[in-house]
Amino acid sequence: MSAAAESYGEDDYLLLSGIHQFAFCRRRWALIYVEQQREDNWRTVDGSLFHKRAHDPFFTEKRRDVIITREMAVRSRALGITGQCDIVEFLRDDERGVPLSGRTGNWHPRPVEYKRGKRQENDSDRLQLCAQAMCLEEMLACQPIEQGCLYYGETKRREYVDLTDELRDTARKMFAEMHEYFRRGYTPRVKPGRSCRACSLCDICIPKLPVEHSVRKYIKDMMEDIPGV
Ligand code: SF4
Repeated sequence: MSAAAESYGEDDYLLLSGIHQFAFCRRRWALIYVEQQREDNWRTVDGSLFHKRAHDPFFTEKRRDVIITREMAVRSRALGITGQCDIVEFLRDDERGVPLSGRTGNWHPRPVEYKRGKRQENDSDRLQLCAQAMCLEEMLACQPIEQGCLYYGETKRREYVDLTDELRDTARKMFAEMHEYFRRGYTPRVKPGRSCRACSLCDICIPKLPVEHSVRKYIKDMMEDIPGV
C-alpha cells in the first residue's frame, strides 16, 4: 500500500528494528531485508512474534509504582511495523495512564531499549526507541509517551530520550521509505562512508559496486580513514 494510506495490512508489516539499520545505511537495510542476504526468513519469524508474545504473561515484575514488562510484542498499523520492546516500564499515573488488566489505577508506558555498546552519534537508537513508543501509543490508545530510555551496556548508563515531533516525523518518513523500497525490491547504490568501517556486510556490499573505479575509490577512502595508513 502507499505511504499516504491510513494503515497497513499485516502482510505488509516490516520489522520495527529495521529502522536501526536503515538510519545507519539504507543500502545495508535493503541488503538484509529486501535481498535477505543475511537474515533468513526474517518476515516469517517476526510475523509470528506478535501472536506468540501476545499469549505470554504480560506483566512480570512490580517495583513500587512501576510494572516492568519484558519482550513485549508491539505493532503499528499506521506505520506498518511489528517488533518488540526489550522492556516497557508502566509508571503509575492516574491522570495520563491507562487501566491495565488485574491492576489498580492507571499506568503510563515508557519503553527501555538495551544496547550492548555505547551511545551512537547518529539517531539510529533513538529512532528505534521512538518507533516502539509510537507502537505502544497506538496499541494502548494512551496519551503521548514523551520519554523513553536507552541503556548502554558498555557504559552502564541509562539515557533519557525526548521523543520529539522531529524524531517522530523522521521515523514516519523512514518507514514510508522502507515500505516503498520493499515494494519495489529496490536496493540503493553504494555510498561509501565512515559507517562502512563498522559494517559487517562489507563483504557482500563491495562486490556489488557498479564499476571498477568505484571499488578503487572505496578502498582509497577506507585507507585514508585508518589512522597511520
Ligand atoms: S559497506 Fe557501507 S555502503 Fe555497504 S552496506 Fe555497509 S555501510 Fe552501507
